[in-house]
Formats: sequence, C-alpha cells, structure tokens
Amino acid sequence: MSHTVSLIRGDGIGPEIVDATVRVLEELQAGLEWEEVRAGSGAFEDLGTPLPEETLLSIGRNKVALKGPLETPVGTGFRSINVAIRKHFDMYANVRPAKILPGVSTRYNDVDIDMVTVRENTEGAYAGIEHTIPPNRAAAETIILCTRWACERIVRYAFDYARQAGRDKVTLVHKANILKETNGLFLEVGQSIAREYDDVEFEDLIVDNMCMQMVLRPERFDVIVTMNLFGDILSDIAAGLIGGLGLTPGANIGKDASMFEAVHGTAPDIAGQGIANPTALMRAAAMMLEHLDMPEKGKRLERALNTVLEEGAALTGDLGGSATTEEFTDAVVASLG
Ligand code: NAD
Repeated sequence: MSHTVSLIRGDGIGPEIVDATVRVLEELQAGLEWEEVRAGSGAFEDLGTPLPEETLLSIGRNKVALKGPLETPVGTGFRSINVAIRKHFDMYANVRPAKILPGVSTRYNDVDIDMVTVRENTEGAYAGIEHTIPPNRAAAETIILCTRWACERIVRYAFDYARQAGRDKVTLVHKANILKETNGLFLEVGQSIAREYDDVEFEDLIVDNMCMQMVLRPERFDVIVTMNLFGDILSDIAAGLIGGLGLTPGANIGKDASMFEAVHGTAPDIAGQGIANPTALMRAAAMMLEHLDMPEKGKRLERALNTVLEEGAALTGDLGGSATTEEFTDAVVASLG
C-alpha cells in the first residue's frame, strides 16, 4: 500500500538532510509518495507567509508529514511554525528517544542510556498566551496553560507507550514545589493515573534535580513524561548524553495527523556546507515507517544506520569524522543491502 507524505524541506540544513533521508527511503522502496509543501523562514521570504494554507491542507489530507527544521526568529518576528503545526493538528505527544548508538563515542559509553522523553506538545508555557505591557515593553507576561484533560492524555500516553515498548518505569518531571497550580495539577493527575498502571514503576522528580540526575545517573531513566518547556530542554540534555543533536529523532503524534522530524534545529553555523549529520532525521523516518505499519522497513533503516556508525568510516564532523552528508548517505544506502 502506498502512502502520501507531506514533505517540508525546511530551513538551514533542512534541505540537505531531507534530501538525504528521502534518498534512503526511496532505496527502501517503502511505497511513499511525496507532496512537497513549504514552511518556515524560506517560505516567509518567498511567499510572504511562514505557514501557507496549502501546507496545512496537505498535512490534514495526508495525516503524516516528514519535516526538516524550521527557523524561528529569536525575540521578535513570527511565532514558531513548529509549535503552530503541532497545535493546529493537536499533535499532543512529542516522543523523543535517546539511546547510545553503536560506535558513537560519548562521555557515557560505559553507561546503558536508553530513555524516551514524552513531552506534552500543545499547552504549558508554549500555549502562545503572552503579551507585553507598554510603554517600551515595561513588562511582559507569558501564561502557562495546563488543563486536566491534556495532563491526563499525555500521562496515559506515556504509560501506554511504556507498556507497549516493554519499558519498566515512568518518571514524571515537574516544578510543583514552586509552580503549585499548573505543575501541581500535572503532578496530581500523574500520581492518580499511575495507580491504574501498577505494572509500571512510577516516580516523580523536580526538574532541577532531574537535570542533575540525568547527567549523573542517566541509566536510571526509562520513559520521562513532562510538560512542554521542560520536555524541550530535557530532550536536548538527553541528546547531549548520547552524542549530540545530530542523532536524536522526534515524533509529534496526534489522533488526526502526525509529524516526524529531528530534535535539532536549522544549524545555521553549518548550513549550506553539505556536512550536516542526517542520522536524526533518518531515525525520525524510521519512526514514521513504524507509524505507517512498516516496522520491518523502519528496523532495516535503523540497522543500516547502526552499521555505518559502528564501522566509523563515514562519520560526519559532529561525530569526529570528515564525511559529507552525501558520503554518509552513500554508506547508509550501501548498508541497506
Ligand atoms: P540547532 O539545533 O540548530 O544547533 C545547535 C548545535 O548543534 C549547532 O552547533 C549545530 O551545528 C549542531 N547541529 C544541529 N543539528 C546538527 C546536525 N544534524 N548535524 C551536525 N550538527 C548539528 O540549535 P540552535 O542554533 O539553537 O537553533 C537554530 C534555529 O533552529 C533557531 O531558529 C531555532 O528556533 C530552530 N529550531 C528548530 C527546531 C525544529 O524545527 N524542530 C528545533 C530546534 C531549533
């Protein structure tokens, strides 16, 4: 069966890693048809809008998207298009696995790191409810939105994910000691739902302690469930533990549509040089294949990536090698057999 996938090449290194990933998916003969649509800064410059209506219609029609990173202006300018797409389609669960991969040299090579961050993706501090108070931006307010039903569905998602993946523990991360209302509600809901899953161990940690524990004893974490802002930050820490942002994939899962992407951004410091590591997006593509009921093809892609990383002959600069994106991709294609 063929699937049509909305394809957003994105900004910065986006087109380089998206093209590499599409090439590998074509080689896998996964029966994917591509519908290319625009979003991000490039779309803003060319079309006058960072999120054309056609892009939303395409994702709505196809229900699955593969996306390169999108630039978000810092401080001023248009709001994050990533956040806008996730919210528009209610892609409420942001799933970001971080596992030490074979052959990748990190400070933690002797440690069994294999954790998955499940981040609430539609509310919290990223709900977009903020304003400045004049004159001259004398003050500014951002509201943290936290509804009971959104807390319930993300905590349930994390426990169900743990069960399905054969994982033992869920760690809920919060700041309920200070943010008593929003984070207090999230913790209360989590503790209540945890009682329904007595086959899965449950703990909660305050976010500052969590950051320290992740660095000190990362092997103790399995599934982490948390609110939007903390999930954004903790998943980058997890990426750092396993060797960097070039390796870490992410899935935005919703009832009506899902979008697969790398955790990293547009990497402006290396964009256009053809040296970006496409592993993170290729691993996101493997998650997409599983989502599209092609788990064997997803595993084949994961195995090919692992082989290339383990052999070490075609590593990109972020992993200590000197291969270009194209050379790395050649090696993955060859490893697909
Ligand atoms: P970044 O992730 O783009 O880069 C951080 C560092 O990691 C840089 O040194 C970069 O070179 C390196 N890096 C990232 N991906 C890499 C890869 N595939 N291969 C090799 N090295 C890689 O973070 P940033 O610089 O803070 O953000 C740049 C832009 O990206 C911002 O506009 C930000 O808003 C956006 N962003 C987008 C997404 C997304 O689209 N999901 C996520 C994060 C950041």
